[in-house]
Amino acid sequence: MGTTLLPGGAGKYVLCVDPAYPGCQESLTAPHMLLHCPNHKAQRDHLEAALHSHGLVLNLSNVLDPKGAASGPVFSALAKYLLDCQITDKI
Ligand SMILES: [Zn+2]
Repeated sequence: MGTTLLPGGAGKYVLCVDPAYPGCQESLTAPHMLLHCPNHKAQRDHLEAALHSHGLVLNLSNVLDPKGAASGPVFSALAKYLLDCQITDKI
């Protein structure tokens, strides 16, 4: 499972995503959920902005293992992203 790449808290959210999510036929892997899923584009903009403000691009390594001063803000943005997506999944 791609979710093993995630820290415990984040992995739990991704594992809880409904595999029958409407409008998305992709397999729900961590890279898909975090980087590519068009259903979460709006929420992802905030996460991407947090990365960009620290000179980082949006990729799995930067999202899950941000270095130095970026780690706090990026982890907050990741937590917000996962929470926002979870709420969206329940609508
Ligand atoms: Zn998707």
